[in-house]
Amino acid sequence: MAVPTGNGAERQYVRTVTTGWRFTLPSQIREARGWDEGTVLRARIAGESVILCDARGQADEITCYLGSGGKVVIPAEVREKVGWSLGERVAIRNGPQGVVLTLCCRRDRCRSCGNLHSVTEVIDNLFLCSECWNRYVEMTAAKRRTA
Ligand SMILES: [Zn+2]
Repeated sequence: MAVPTGNGAERQYVRTVTTGWRFTLPSQIREARGWDEGTVLRARIAGESVILCDARGQADEITCYLGSGGKVVIPAEVREKVGWSLGERVAIRNGPQGVVLTLCCRRDRCRSCGNLHSVTEVIDNLFLCSECWNRYVEMTAAKRRTA
């Protein structure tokens, strides 16, 4: 199948992972790929990204289905491996090897527990949520007392 080249190919869409681990595949990408409701997709993990492509009868990889309105449920195996959480924003790009899904705000997750709420950059490139940060501060304070 021909993959569109030029400006359209690199266009990026952002969707949020909602309850039930669903996100909506933009209609522009569905149309470009010729995917419709009921299309079986293959999910492949490539580093921190997930690549969706046509299953074409290959059952050796993780599959998911395209639902009505372009809804896709992220398979459990995939979200466990990539460590995504609900409410996260996913950048969606139609690439030559498939539809590439990458987290938009990876840096803003707590490095320790993966929380997305009240996360701050406590030191350069280290993002922690207030809970983990407080725990860390208490721990180092306790260490100092016993030392
Ligand atoms: Zn945390």
